[in-house]
Amino acid sequence: MNRREFMGSMAAAAAVGEIIKMPLPVGSATRVQLPRAAWLENGLIDAGGSHEPYIFVVRRGGESLRARREYEWNQSEELIRTLHEQGIEVFHTHLYKGFGMAAEQPEMEDTRRAAAIAHRYGMKVDTYIQWNCMMYETFFAEEPRARDWIQRDVNGIPILLTYGFQQSYRYRPCFTHQEYLDYLKRIVRYAVEEVRTDFIHFDNFDLNPEPDSCHCPACVEGFRGFLRAKYPPDKRRERFGFENVDYVNPPQWNRQNRPEKMAIIFDPAIQEWIDFRCQVMADALRQMAEFARSLNPHVAIEINPHGITGGNRAWENAINHARLLTSTDVIWTEEENPCIYLEDGRLVSKIRSYKLARAYHNILLAYITDNPAAMGEGLAFNQTLGFAGTAPIPPAMLQHVAFYRKNRDLYLGTEDMATVGVLRSHASLTYHHARTQLSAVLTEQALIQSRIPFHLIFDEPLPDLSKLRALVLPESECLSDEHLGRIRSFVEAGGGLVVIGQAGLYDEWRRLRAEPGLERLVEGQSPAPDYEEDVAEAAAQAGPSRQKQVGRGRVVYIPAVEFDGPLPEPEPYFNISNRFWKRPRNWKQIIDAVRWAADDELLLQIDGPDFLVANLVEQTARKRRLIHLVNYDARNTPTISSVRVTCAVPQDREVNDVRLYEVDRDSPQVLPFTTGPGTVSFTVPEVKTYAVVAIGC
Ligand SMILES: [Zn+2]
Repeated sequence: MNRREFMGSMAAAAAVGEIIKMPLPVGSATRVQLPRAAWLENGLIDAGGSHEPYIFVVRRGGESLRARREYEWNQSEELIRTLHEQGIEVFHTHLYKGFGMAAEQPEMEDTRRAAAIAHRYGMKVDTYIQWNCMMYETFFAEEPRARDWIQRDVNGIPILLTYGFQQSYRYRPCFTHQEYLDYLKRIVRYAVEEVRTDFIHFDNFDLNPEPDSCHCPACVEGFRGFLRAKYPPDKRRERFGFENVDYVNPPQWNRQNRPEKMAIIFDPAIQEWIDFRCQVMADALRQMAEFARSLNPHVAIEINPHGITGGNRAWENAINHARLLTSTDVIWTEEENPCIYLEDGRLVSKIRSYKLARAYHNILLAYITDNPAAMGEGLAFNQTLGFAGTAPIPPAMLQHVAFYRKNRDLYLGTEDMATVGVLRSHASLTYHHARTQLSAVLTEQALIQSRIPFHLIFDEPLPDLSKLRALVLPESECLSDEHLGRIRSFVEAGGGLVVIGQAGLYDEWRRLRAEPGLERLVEGQSPAPDYEEDVAEAAAQAGPSRQKQVGRGRVVYIPAVEFDGPLPEPEPYFNISNRFWKRPRNWKQIIDAVRWAADDELLLQIDGPDFLVANLVEQTARKRRLIHLVNYDARNTPTISSVRVTCAVPQDREVNDVRLYEVDRDSPQVLPFTTGPGTVSFTVPEVKTYAVVAIGC
C-alpha cells in the first residue's frame, strides 16, 4: 500500500471505524521531484482574462449590471487576439470555482470554447481551478454526500475560506477525504480532456491557522494513523512517553492561551499535527498532479501557496514548500512585498520567494504589473516574466514583454550561481519562528543589500553542499544528527560555516541537546534553555565574532543578528512581515564573516548604494555569465551612475565580450573590460531600473 492509498483508506477506515495497521515511511513520495512540463523551459508570459465565472460574480453580490458583458468579453476572440498580438503566450481564464460541476457546467463549456480560440492563435491555456472551496448551496444539492467532505472545527462547525464578512457560503473541503479528491479529479479530467488545458492553476492552496483546523473524524483517525505509520512503538514512546496513540487528538485551544500567541512549539502532538496537516496537503497535491500528468504528460501544475512571506507557513497554513514544489512547475505568491526601498531603510522584495521557486526548478507568479522595478526583479530572479496581468495590459508591462521576447535567449537554460548558502531550517522556523525567521530574514537582507549571490538551502532533504564555499546557519536551532553530520563533513572537506546564535543547540523535535550540536566547531556559543512555562523572548544580543580554523574548514560564530532600531511589536503567529525587512545593525560583521568563511570566493563584487541589487546566473552551454542589476529606489533615484563590477569567470576561458542590455534600448551596448586571473572587470555607465550584462567567455 503506498502513501496515497493509505490516506484514502484512512478516510474509508475512519468512516467504518476500522483500525488499520500501517507500513511505509510517511511522506517519502513527496520528496521526489516529478518531471517538469518541458514547454515551460521556454519561459512563461501568462495573462488573462478573468478567473471569475459569472455565477460567482452574481453570488458574491454587488456586481455591476455590466458584469455579464464583461464576463463574455473576458473570453472573447477579440480579447484573446489582442493578448496574442501583444506577445502574451499563455491565456489565463476561469474553469471551476467550487459550485459543483452541475452548477458550473454552462460556464465550463464557455471555457472549452475560449480555450479552442486561444489554441487556434498558437497560445497555451491556463485554467483556474479552485482547490479548496465548496459553495455548499449548490454543491450539496448536486452531491449530498459532500456534507461529510467538508472541514469541521472542534465543535463540528464548517470551516470557511477567510474572505471578509460576507462569504460564509464558501466551505473548505477536507483533504483527508478521498471522495472529495476523486470529485476534484473529475474536474481535472474535464480540464485536460475537454478543455485541453496546458496549465492547471489550483487556487487557495492552504489551510486556515489554528484554531480553525479540521477535527472531522477522518482527520482525527488519520492523525492517529499517521503517528503509527511514522513511528514504530519504541519511537512513539520516545516521542510521547507512551506507545498507544489511539486516543491522541488534534490540539485544542482555550480563551486564555490563543494559538497566535504561542512563541515556541514544544508539544510533540502539536509538532506532529503540523506535520500531518502539511503532509495531507502534499499527498493530495501529488495525487492530483500525477493524475493530470497521466492524462497528458505536458500539463503544467501550479498552486497558490504563497512564497516566503515571513509567516510561519507550516504552522499557520499547512504549507511545507519542500514537499509541495516537488509536484509543481509553477507557484503563485500573492504576498504584498512590492519591489521598493523605503525611507526607513527597509528594502522590500520577493527575492526570497523567487529563490525558493528556483531551488525547485519552479517559476514564480506574482503581481508585478504596476511596478517596473518588480518586472526587473522578476527578470533578474525568476528569469522570466510570469504573470503579465489582466487585460488591458499596462504599457510598461508590454514594453517588458517585448524586451523579454526579443532577448529571450538571455534567460533560457540559466542556473543561479552562488557560493554562499543560507539554511532555512524547517524545524527551527516552525517551532521557534520569531527568532529563526527574524535571523534568517536579516541575514538574507545583509547579503541582498551587499549584492552577494546566495542560495536558500532547504533541509527536506539537505541538498549537496559541496558546491558552496560558505553555509550560514541563522539561529538554526533544530538540527537533526543527520544534518549535523552533513555540516561537519562539509567543514572537514574545506567548507566555511557561519554559525549564528543558537544554531545546533536543539534536535529536530526541539529537545535541548546535552552537548551543543556543533561542539568543537564553534567556540563561545551561549547556552540555551529547555522547556519554559512562560517563554520570555529576550532580544538577541550582538557580540564579537569568533573565527576558528577547523582542519581545512573555517568556522565563524556570531552571537546574534541585531535588528537596526527598536524591534516592531510582535504580530499574530509571530509573523516577520516586511516591517522587519531591514538591513541589520551588524550587517558588516555578517558580511565580513561570510567573506572570511568563503575564503573571499563570492563571485561578484559590485560597488553601489544598498538599494542596488544583483543576481548572477550562468548559461553553461552558451559559455555565458549574466549579471542582473535592479535599482529598488528607481522612484527617487532614477539612475545610478558608474557601477563598477568585478565578476569571476572560469580560469581556463578568455572573456570575449561584455554587453549591456536595457529595456528601453533597441540593441545592446558593448562595454570595455579588463581581465585579471579568473575575473573580468568593467563599469556599467548607468543603471536605471533594470539592466542585464552578458559576459561571453
Ligand atoms: Zn478533516
